[in-house]
This record gives sequence, C-alpha cells and structure tokens, in this order.
Amino acid sequence: MSDCIFCKIIAGEIPCKKIYEDDEMLAFYDLTPQAPVHFLLIPKKHIRNLMELEPGDIALSGRLLNKAQELAKELGCGEKGARFVINAKRDGGQTVDHLHLHILGGRQLIWPPG
Ligand code: AMP
Ligand code: ZN
Repeated sequence: MSDCIFCKIIAGEIPCKKIYEDDEMLAFYDLTPQAPVHFLLIPKKHIRNLMELEPGDIALSGRLLNKAQELAKELGCGEKGARFVINAKRDGGQTVDHLHLHILGGRQLIWPPG
C-alpha cells in the first residue's frame, strides 16, 4: 500500500526503532509511547484492520500473538504483565489503517480505557 505509513516503515522508507523483524512481521517502538514499554507489532502483509482478517491469515495471527508475548517478556514485562491491544476502525480508536498490536507495559494500566 503506497500511502500506508506502516508499509513505508516495512519498506525502510520511514525510519523506526526496530525491535524484531522476520519475513512476515516487524516490531518497533511507538513514536508516542503511552507507557515505559510501548511497541507495535505488525504483519508485513497490508491488512487494514482486524475485521479484514481473512481465513488465510489465521496462522499468521497466531504467530503474531506468540511473538507479542515473547517480546513483552524480553523487554521485562514477564513478571508484572503487559497489555496487548488491537484498535479496530473509528470507534476502536484506530488511526493507522494497517493491522497492529500495541504492547504496553512497565507501569500499571487502568481499566476501562477512556
Ligand atoms: P492506533 O491509534 O491504534 O492506530 O495506533 C497507531 C500508533 O502508531 C500510535 O500509537 C502512533 O503513535 C503510532 N505511530 C504512528 N506513526 C508512527 C511511526 N512513524 N513510528 C512509530 N509509531 C508510529
Ligand atoms: Zn500497510
């Protein structure tokens, strides 16, 4: 997707603070962190949001979830925990239309969100 910020990050056209990369996903720190640990994990495939996930993406989503928890532990959230968030579409608060997981930790987060 030529006008997608996250596709541009994947292509190396926009810099990011990379945490992890393989052939199907990329993790990098959020530009405006909301917690001491706040990073994003995205599939390299341009999926607009969780509601556009296709049957062929199911195995990929499982690997994304697994990598999210692995990286959260590597970044020190194993003992106290973290929040794993996917915002979808307008009412979900999604601002970048490329599927992404937020992983937030390093402080106790309140619930429910505002
Ligand atoms: P969402 O509101 O769930 O769509 O989250 C999008 C997130 O992407 C926000 O937390 C932004 O701070 C983050 N973001 C936007 N542009 C960049 C960028 N160039 N590098 C890192 N994070 C970004
Ligand atoms: Zn994209």
